Amino acid sequence: MSEAAEPHLRSNDAPNLPHHNIAQGHIAPTFVTPSSYLRPLGHSRPTTPAKPLKPVDIEQREGLRAIRAFLKVRTSYDVLPLSFRLIILDTSLLVKKSLNILIQNGIVSAPLWDSDTSTFAGLLTTSDYINVIQYYWQNPDALSRVDQFRLSSLREIERALGVTPIETVSIHPERPLYEACRRMLESRARRIPLVDVDDETNRSMVVSVVTQYRILKFVAVNVKETQLLKKPLKELNVGTYTGLATAYMDTPVMDVIHMLVKKNISSVPILDRDGGAVLNVFEAVDVITLIKGGNYEDLSLNVGEALLKRSDDFSGIYTCSVQDRLDTIFDTIRRSRVHRLVILNEHGKLEGVLTLSDILEYVLLEGEGDET
Ligand code: AMP
Repeated sequence: MSEAAEPHLRSNDAPNLPHHNIAQGHIAPTFVTPSSYLRPLGHSRPTTPAKPLKPVDIEQREGLRAIRAFLKVRTSYDVLPLSFRLIILDTSLLVKKSLNILIQNGIVSAPLWDSDTSTFAGLLTTSDYINVIQYYWQNPDALSRVDQFRLSSLREIERALGVTPIETVSIHPERPLYEACRRMLESRARRIPLVDVDDETNRSMVVSVVTQYRILKFVAVNVKETQLLKKPLKELNVGTYTGLATAYMDTPVMDVIHMLVKKNISSVPILDRDGGAVLNVFEAVDVITLIKGGNYEDLSLNVGEALLKRSDDFSGIYTCSVQDRLDTIFDTIRRSRVHRLVILNEHGKLEGVLTLSDILEYVLLEGEGDET
């Protein structure tokens, strides 16, 4: 429904004269009011008229509209820096070696290349390592086999575990960024490879990979209307506040890894057993350091011990409250590599989780149907 249509409908609803007269004890007039003719037959009208928009609502809408308009005129190419590196891993590489390469290069995913067929073979992500971990956990006697797993074995592992392979979505770099975001939302992917076709060989080639963070940072840097998003989180339908997966420092790390898989989430807040305060967050990327070099013994550690393995350059945990607004959250995204914010109440206890998936979904879909 367009904005202009709402007040028009409401003014038609208002003069319901016959009812008014009956309530007053008068005889109802026998003529019908014009609004009765205009009412579509068989459709009940809303009993409570929509609340008029407050200036803060109008600004919020304006902010979202500006972000979407921006995403529609920019392409994924625009997000890429002028110069960048791309690390592609050959599917014949051993899984344990791939872990070291990721760690050495400070990355958490990489496109795969099948040199037998000279084709792009999907994206290697933390989910693949979690699958290997689960396979090992179910078949602890098969350690020597797990040790020899190559990246080409990942699909077999998926089959053995009975997990649905994560569909590798990709996008042409010249397509609008908005389309890349929609594809990521639909597939719940947190990153998307940009795949082009080589003019000479007619083969597909991976240009780069864009992440939710890169896209939202690009928006934060370039769309000044993000400053219009002044409604507090508590008034928005964004983030998760119920059914939160949490753990304690003494929870076995494998239990937390199972939670990540079961709920398809990328982090689990770690709470203090006594007071319930948030002490840390275990992230899916933490599994990379945990099984570094193909060392699966550390999977018997508890969360506290596992978190000690984190590298010193860990960027920390970001928190906010339901009073915070997306304008300041976009400021944080502009300044720091944040992937999620833990929402705390006034006593420092966990109230919810706001991740980049939530922000992207809100920015793309909120009130989308209202726009013409
Ligand atoms: P993510 O993959 O972390 O971006 O999260 C995907 C969805 O799961 C988002 O809607 C998050 O708000 C939600 N989520 C993230 N972490 C948790 C958690 N620990 N418990 C429940 N839901 C979560």
